[in-house]
Amino acid sequence: MLVSPTPPASAFADRHIGVTAPADVRAMLDRLGYAELDELVDAAVPSAIRMDGPLDLPAGVGEEQILAELRGFAAKNTPMVQMIGQGFSDTHTPPVIRRNVLESPAWYTAYTPYQPEISQGRLEALLNFQTMVSDLTALPVANASMLDESSAAAEAVLLMRRAGKASPTAKAVLDAALFPQTIAVIRGRAEALGFEVEVADLGAGLPEGELFGIVLQQPGDRGAVVDHAATIAAARERGAMVTVIADLLSLTLIVPPGEQGADVAVGSTQRFGVPLFFGGPHAAYLAVRAGLERSLPGRLVGVSRDAAGRQAYRLALQTREQHIRREKATSNICTAQALLAITASMYAVYHGPEGLRAIAERVHAHARALAAALAAAGIPLASASFFDTVVAEVPGRADAVIAAAAAAGINLRRIDAGTVGVSTDETTTAAHIAAVARAFGAAEPSAPAPGAAFPPALARTSDYLSHPIFATVRSETQMLRYLRRLADRDLALDRTMIPLGSCTMKLNATAEMEAISWPEFAGIHPYAPAEQTVGWRELIAELERRLVAITGYAGMSLQPNSGAQGELAGLLAIRGYHRSRGEADRTVCLIPASAHGTNAASAVLAGMRVVVVRNTDSGHIDLDDLRAKVEAHRDQLAAIMITYPSTYGVYDTDVHEVCGLVHAAGGQVYIDGANMNALVGIAQPGRFGGDVSHLNLHKTFAIPHGGGGPGVGPIGVAEHLLPFLPGDPRGGGATGGAAVVATIFGSAGVLPISYAYIALMGAEGLARATRTALLSANYIAARLAEHFPVLFTGESGLVAHECILDLRELTARSGVTAEDVAKRLIDFGFHAPTLAFPVAGTLMVEPTESEDLGEIERFIAAMIAIRGEIADVAEGRCPLGDSPLRLAPHTAEALLDADWDRAYTRERAAYPVASLRADKYFPPVGRIDGAHGDRNLVCSCPPPEAFA
Ligand SMILES: *Cc1c(COP(=O)(O)O)cnc(C)c1O
Repeated sequence: MLVSPTPPASAFADRHIGVTAPADVRAMLDRLGYAELDELVDAAVPSAIRMDGPLDLPAGVGEEQILAELRGFAAKNTPMVQMIGQGFSDTHTPPVIRRNVLESPAWYTAYTPYQPEISQGRLEALLNFQTMVSDLTALPVANASMLDESSAAAEAVLLMRRAGKASPTAKAVLDAALFPQTIAVIRGRAEALGFEVEVADLGAGLPEGELFGIVLQQPGDRGAVVDHAATIAAARERGAMVTVIADLLSLTLIVPPGEQGADVAVGSTQRFGVPLFFGGPHAAYLAVRAGLERSLPGRLVGVSRDAAGRQAYRLALQTREQHIRREKATSNICTAQALLAITASMYAVYHGPEGLRAIAERVHAHARALAAALAAAGIPLASASFFDTVVAEVPGRADAVIAAAAAAGINLRRIDAGTVGVSTDETTTAAHIAAVARAFGAAEPSAPAPGAAFPPALARTSDYLSHPIFATVRSETQMLRYLRRLADRDLALDRTMIPLGSCTMKLNATAEMEAISWPEFAGIHPYAPAEQTVGWRELIAELERRLVAITGYAGMSLQPNSGAQGELAGLLAIRGYHRSRGEADRTVCLIPASAHGTNAASAVLAGMRVVVVRNTDSGHIDLDDLRAKVEAHRDQLAAIMITYPSTYGVYDTDVHEVCGLVHAAGGQVYIDGANMNALVGIAQPGRFGGDVSHLNLHKTFAIPHGGGGPGVGPIGVAEHLLPFLPGDPRGGGATGGAAVVATIFGSAGVLPISYAYIALMGAEGLARATRTALLSANYIAARLAEHFPVLFTGESGLVAHECILDLRELTARSGVTAEDVAKRLIDFGFHAPTLAFPVAGTLMVEPTESEDLGEIERFIAAMIAIRGEIADVAEGRCPLGDSPLRLAPHTAEALLDADWDRAYTRERAAYPVASLRADKYFPPVGRIDGAHGDRNLVCSCPPPEAFA
């Protein structure tokens, strides 16, 4: 027989999918009572929604092939020296941080730290981030990252409006010196909510009328560094709040917003070691003065204590989360930019305050040298006061100057035909400055005069980053060990299955990850000329095509940088559509009670009114209630948001009817695609009733979760919604919807991951992944059903790709809660399933296709052992308060306590199943008291004595 020269196309799928051995598949099917996998799928998935044939996608390719293909795209991009600025600055990512954070599965495969006992490492890193932002902005409370600078500025405006209790007619005023992309994003959000935004030159005084807030930017769009003190004071005098968008690096030299009286500061932390990535992902920041912490959007890490009184970190004020607050949530931000925030924080830890200041001084000196050379050549500058951006007036010559610089390999910013911007950054050299000067026809720059190019009154005199963590990690050995020490405290996918329902924690293959840090992808500025970004745009267009093929929609936008941003963009498209037809009154959004909390929060942000539709006891949408609500709101009905398969993990058979009822009343159907892992290759939301869906590329399409971001939440839409897809925030795009973030492709930098995933799996591999996800979820449900009731199943008695284990009856009998089970699983080395969503008192388990049968059995064994412990409590053999469940998780320190006097043995606590003796994770802290931390809110690094 001839040996095939290339590996079979399915070789990668066989690595991605955990259950491949025919004997394993057989054993699982036997347990479920099906002869074939297809028979199980046919029974689980209603035939009415099934797609006819296979996916219209190429066959899977090998890992070497995809890397070669990606190199081909990369080769069509042109890396340049990027001096365009406008919110994006090149930076050196320290290699030790690149390899051991950005490229390290210990960091990038972690989930959002909802289970704080197994997340102390990333929580510490995020607390460092908050401390860094708080110190540099001189505002006491900063959150753990925002999606990007422009959307963070929009959130700041909404925060001012909420917290300032403005009258509905009050307006926000944006300084004309904001970046145009930021103005566009803020305008889009304000338009949906129906409040006025005025753009004015605030240096010339505040406009008339009632204002709830103003937004300034430092340095401004044209690079000017301006003393905002008088403007801020005038705004406060008028009862308005103040947000300053500030460049974080400049704050090492320039008086920070907090010291000038600002209420809020926002901005990007990208230039702290995070590559340009063609626009994202980057962590933005948001900091507030005291008193506003409870209005903050996004996540906040805080300090609390564990059961033994030890300092411990956890997410603070979780009651503000959309999951709980739904339409009353402070924002819809769920996935943020954790991995990038961690990268930026480590950059600050590594460089320390003096290192950052030295970088800022170098950046500033290069800008001064260039300014002096231009001035000597008689070229006027837009501002003599600047930090890193010099804007030159060259009437009629902008294109010639830019072309000359490009010929030297340098990109400058074209502001208009007579104005050119040049921004220096950490990577700028004297040679770059000399080449730019030549492009302007100026003489060789000499060393700049000492001093600063901004008023002495603006020079920062206060300290920052004075916490020891910013002074103790200087050598690479120290950094390597700090990163390892933190990572070792955490459970990520590189150690254990993470069976989080609705999160799809699948393999993030190394081959999928490799390309993202290649300079031809990572080093591209989002506003680089189109001819330099051919490879990027081809890759993105092809990814869009493939996602269209998968979903059955007419088109896609990859702009939204999280699932919730996708929801917002999708609802804004629906809104735009209704308005274009003269039906602006259609503002009611029907949302089932079971929906993910971001759905309701996003609907509110899109200017819609949420009307809740009941679920039946069996977990379906209550059709009678739906009919009544549709009838009651017939003329105002904008949309229904449903999740399919439902958040209850079942394929509802009545989805056609639901969609039909809403369509008949003139409403649109939004299908939340977070559960797309149960549909790929089997059914297409664009074909079975949806008008728009977002996908979570960080769930179904293999982008790692990063400890809470990055994410990509593209939306697919039907033909009639195409014109309303999010537009280009800098204008001139093909679509007319409001931009939701600063760049047209959002978090472009991580798109090669999903591209590679789809290409590697191919049509067959993708469909097999879905079928395997169904098999594994149903197998777990079947194995555990006799121990824990499975809450919902479809008509066939099957679940989709996840199952809900109902603890409520056991809790009533024993007092043992779902949370106790989640914490006890840590002692078995597992990350808990999703706790209390979508039903309080339950655990939702999603194994995904990537887990092998051995790992699945390990999980089942843990759950059965825990069930035994619950029985001990229920049957009076072990008091609840002294049970291994309530006292879980067990730290090594607790286990070694000389005064051990618990009702169970140390062995039982640490090694409840024998396999743990060979491979054991010890949590660094015991059960954390979250309420204590909320009562005593501490959101920056506590002094080291606190750990004594
Ligand atoms: C994850 C999820 C979302 C939100 O996605 P983010 O990327 O975290 O914003 C929305 N809906 C459902 C059903 C989800 O599971």
